[in-house]
Amino acid sequence: MREFSVSSLPEFDNHELVAFFEDKKTGLKSFVAVHNTNLGPATGGTRYWNYRSEREALRDALRLSQAMTYKCALAGLSYGGGKGVIMANSHNPKKRKFLIAYAKRVNLLRGNFYTGEDVGLTTEYVNTLARHSKFIIGRESLAGNPSPWAALGVFYAISAGLKAVFGTDEMSGRTFSIKGVGKVGSELCRLLYGRGGRIVVADINQKRIKQIKKRFPKVRVVKPGEIHEQRVDVYAPCALGDEFNAKTIPRLQCHIVCGGANNQLSTSEDGRRLQRAGILYIPDYLANAGGLINVVAELDRRGYSWKRVRKRVQNIQKMARKVIEFSRRQDTPTSEVADRLAESIFRKKSKG
Ligand code: NAD
Repeated sequence: MREFSVSSLPEFDNHELVAFFEDKKTGLKSFVAVHNTNLGPATGGTRYWNYRSEREALRDALRLSQAMTYKCALAGLSYGGGKGVIMANSHNPKKRKFLIAYAKRVNLLRGNFYTGEDVGLTTEYVNTLARHSKFIIGRESLAGNPSPWAALGVFYAISAGLKAVFGTDEMSGRTFSIKGVGKVGSELCRLLYGRGGRIVVADINQKRIKQIKKRFPKVRVVKPGEIHEQRVDVYAPCALGDEFNAKTIPRLQCHIVCGGANNQLSTSEDGRRLQRAGILYIPDYLANAGGLINVVAELDRRGYSWKRVRKRVQNIQKMARKVIEFSRRQDTPTSEVADRLAESIFRKKSKG
């Protein structure tokens, strides 16, 4: 590998800590990045992914942990942003052994970093981590599955968007398109369907489509390549990121974009492009914070409370309204307003 300086990477953004863990016995290679702890200890899932190089893994950890700082700040959580990535090794898949070695390294951070499930890990693996570290959250026996909470937050953010654009958040008869009907998308579909929404979906996985059609017979299905071009009131991306760019934005035929997928904008310029196209974009990390709100509730000294989680997730609607209002008043894209608001929360705290 060519030498490089961590702080010169574009994603570095003054991270407080970057740790590289290597365990010769198991072959584990992983990074933990802690972006900012002004609001409290860092939190963020651990991704288990087949990275092509250490550099690629590190850049992913940095980018994702920075986003967690912003997500925590807007969700009103006393936590900072962090992220772990484990480099999967397809020639030597020792997932369980890797996880045990990783959990032991997380312990070295002594509670400055709490982690749990992300892409590539299931609840079963989180339970393995939790047996070897007390800094693991999202356990089956406590907060459990974060996806319904993530979908509920998106649902509240959509309500705020509808009210701002149409003057009412009534959903009956409104049209929605959902890309990806996995854990978050299918739950969002259930919520919107229950309110009388007219829904069109797409998924690359036919099994998911079958399940959705069985549960919600009136849902219409289109090909994955056509979902973003549907003429609808709200488009909800709930698959992977990098959804909006100079090519896809001109093809959109919706009034509002609000979904569960992370990192929907390919670049910050795409927030401006959506605004110029007259589309209200509810920033992804604001809308999809429900899952995080639920898992960190495990750390509440008063104990996990379903009621408190629900209230915080409802607050996503208020924060979305605030971002929309500021964006209109200042004629600034919602993506930039959300970033500035989050920064004003986590940066102010450091001075206090
Ligand atoms: P998931 O894997 O259960 O669902 C994703 C679905 O998208 C799958 O059914 C997959 O087949 C489909 N898909 C993938 N590429 C597609 C494409 N090109 N076109 C159409 N469908 C496609 O994942 P999930 O947990 O529902 O997460 C969805 C998104 O929400 C991710 O971006 C995730 O990072 C984000 N998110 C999830 C949570 C959570 O609690 N699960 C919380 C916050 C954010």
